[in-house]
Amino acid sequence: MIRNPRRDREITRKVIRWFEADARELPWRRKRSGYRALVAELMLQQTQVARVLEYYDRFLRRFPTIRDLARADEQDVLAQWQGLGYYRRARHLHAAARAVVSDHRGRLPRSAAELEKLPGIGRYTAGAIASIVHDERVPIVDGNVTRVLARLEGRRSSAHDGKGQAATWQTASRLVGHAASSSRFNEGLMELGALICTPRQPNCKSCPLARHCRARQHHAQHLIPPPKPGPRQQPVHHHAVIVQRKARTLLEQRPATGLWSNMWQVPTLESPTPLSGEELREHLSVPLTHLEPVDSFRHQTTHRRITFHVYLGRTRLRRGTWCTQEEAASLPLSNPQRRILEIALRA
Ligand code: SF4
Repeated sequence: MIRNPRRDREITRKVIRWFEADARELPWRRKRSGYRALVAELMLQQTQVARVLEYYDRFLRRFPTIRDLARADEQDVLAQWQGLGYYRRARHLHAAARAVVSDHRGRLPRSAAELEKLPGIGRYTAGAIASIVHDERVPIVDGNVTRVLARLEGRRSSAHDGKGQAATWQTASRLVGHAASSSRFNEGLMELGALICTPRQPNCKSCPLARHCRARQHHAQHLIPPPKPGPRQQPVHHHAVIVQRKARTLLEQRPATGLWSNMWQVPTLESPTPLSGEELREHLSVPLTHLEPVDSFRHQTTHRRITFHVYLGRTRLRRGTWCTQEEAASLPLSNPQRRILEIALRA
């Protein structure tokens, strides 16, 4: 670890100056509030800024205050999140809003320590809200900060295991201790990682930290940090059957736990290997009088490599949830299930 208070102060000054001059105009930077930051931070986890921009304003129009969000039905929250993926984040956001209303009289706590006690709020999100909105002197570390600091300090060991992460938090904490503004320094460091110190082709010529960067001095930018080993993805097969009657499609709700919990789908059977038509008819929740394959496609989640086998089916069953396309569109559906409803339109 490099300890040099003068160097640290200069680094924080340069990051802040660069951020003030070159930061992007983003909606959550226009008007600061804990609630707006909470929504933005949860949306931004594992999702590109461009994608979040499509959702952020619309979500806030639907739930303008934390009380509105706390009062909302979970299905409504999931429907607003539909298409952003990682739906656990929407549930965490909803749970946090409810906890703020029941335990904090509707006022989001200001300190990182209090924020971290809310359901689903980890060290990063708590630090981001406390430092960016309330200027608390706490560090934040995300993927961008991890990369910038590993390169700045020329750390070649893994940045992603427990030891690497602890070292990054320590460096971030030491630096923010020297910053004139925790808010602008923390946000500036993340912005630098997003725009300049990018994973594959860092733009060192335009980097305000070029003079201090150990990786650049050793021409080792592309080696630092070493790549993160990807999670092992399990192959799974989802057999999805489109059953229609009088311009309505039969839908069912997924179980309350696990992937896409409580969201809606056409009758779907999951298995570790592909099923024959006979097996599918035997085990599907709906008795079928006809079944024919119409399409198939792949979908990846963090831990699963899913093959969707799409069928058209017919049933004599009249019970169940039969929806028009408009009704289905207002329900929370995963992206692949939305794609299946598009296939249903063409079928
Ligand atoms: S000099 Fe290059 S590698 Fe170093 S922090 Fe700046 S952009 Fe990243």
